[in-house]
Amino acid sequence: MSGQKGTGYFEDDRRHLLHPFAEFPGSLEDGSRFFARGEGAWIYDPGGQRFLDGIGGLWCVNIGYGREEMVRAIADQASAMPYYNTFTDMSSEPAATLAAKLGSLAPGDLKRVFFTSGGSLSVDTAVRLAHYYYQAQGRPSKKLILARRDSYHGSTYLAASISGIAPNRAGFHHLADGESPLVHHLECPNLYRAPAGLSEAGYLDSLIAELESRIAELGAENIACFVAEPIIGAGGVLIAPRGYHRAALEVCRQHDILYICDEVVTGFGRLGWMFCSEPLYDICPDMIVCAKGISSGYIPLGAVIFSERIFECISKPNPRTSVFSHGFTYSGHPVACAAGIKNIEILEREDLCGRVRTLAPRFKQALASLTSLGIVGDVRGEGFMHAIEFVADKRGKQSFDSAVAIGKRVAEAAYDRGLIARNVGDLIILSPPLILTGEQIDDLAQTLHAAIRTVMEDLRRESLWSG
Ligand code: PLP
Repeated sequence: MSGQKGTGYFEDDRRHLLHPFAEFPGSLEDGSRFFARGEGAWIYDPGGQRFLDGIGGLWCVNIGYGREEMVRAIADQASAMPYYNTFTDMSSEPAATLAAKLGSLAPGDLKRVFFTSGGSLSVDTAVRLAHYYYQAQGRPSKKLILARRDSYHGSTYLAASISGIAPNRAGFHHLADGESPLVHHLECPNLYRAPAGLSEAGYLDSLIAELESRIAELGAENIACFVAEPIIGAGGVLIAPRGYHRAALEVCRQHDILYICDEVVTGFGRLGWMFCSEPLYDICPDMIVCAKGISSGYIPLGAVIFSERIFECISKPNPRTSVFSHGFTYSGHPVACAAGIKNIEILEREDLCGRVRTLAPRFKQALASLTSLGIVGDVRGEGFMHAIEFVADKRGKQSFDSAVAIGKRVAEAAYDRGLIARNVGDLIILSPPLILTGEQIDDLAQTLHAAIRTVMEDLRRESLWSG
């Protein structure tokens, strides 16, 4: 552990800082790991020890650390004008330029942009926009939200309610609870844990049939939108059966339900495309929600990119609506937008999307080699977004007892070897910066191999696994 117990900021952190997703009491007992500096795909602790950042900060540092031109773009804008609002008829050049750029990158008629400062606020914005759109059409009953179990969409009240990860729900209230909830969760598409004996096509049919029957039950006239990640990220890098998104979009279109694609993780190159909806899943949703890679985490920024069709509807004079009274102080923040513009310039200039497409097979293959290990049940993902799921029994896909904390053990063992991998339940997740080299990919896989072998030995010694 890199912090110095009993010293300054280590104790300040323990005594004063409530961390997102803090695990009590463990977080308090152990204290935090501190990091102080980054360069390329490396991150350094305050003592100068370096780690390969296998998680890109938190699926976000797509262009890597230490980009001086990002620092300059941010400093130049802060110096010229650190802030001005974009409410009503105010604007700034960075906000306008980035909106136009996003409109040019998004598929179909997704040309209109609303800025926020993160993913959760973008999800909230998309849903409020959907409600406003149907209100403008004189269809105020269209309010309900369809989402999927095990999805993650954020931590505001609304985004957390749309998210479907069961353990995250304990202790909080959600708009998916109670007798007439706003949010309705559908089965989570997860090829690895699809019902036994069902083909991929059969699995797809069953998921789509569930979507149709839920719409029939709730009434399409009451449903505003369907919210989905192309690949469920924090829920475990869960892959849907082939054709799922296309089929779900078609059902949504038949029932006039808006399809909101949450590309907070998958956007800006992680899967090899600026937005993966169209090139990988053959869909042009009604809205794309993005954040993270839009600024590579150098500064908070998020956006909703939505269709001209929606804009035309909401922008006409209409007695049913009034001002579009939704917005944040930091919507279109000029410094954040300047960072977004520079970030996209770097992604394009260095063709980082093309680089991910080229290196993805090597990444996949290097990780796939881990399946020879006795506790690796599944290795899955696309592009630079993968997960490794650990199981006690490979054939039966039986999970370890949660007390074993298998994912945590592997993440710790990787950390001890200089690799940061993210533990979520029985998985570790990998979402490295998009600049990772072929050699770094091989190193990452070898480090994981050694880490998992050590964990297997520990489990045997502790009589927790006998495979
Ligand atoms: N949507 C997805 C798919 C995410 O993975 C996340 C965060 O990880 C969010 C939304 C929420 O984004 P933020 O944490 O920036 O609010």
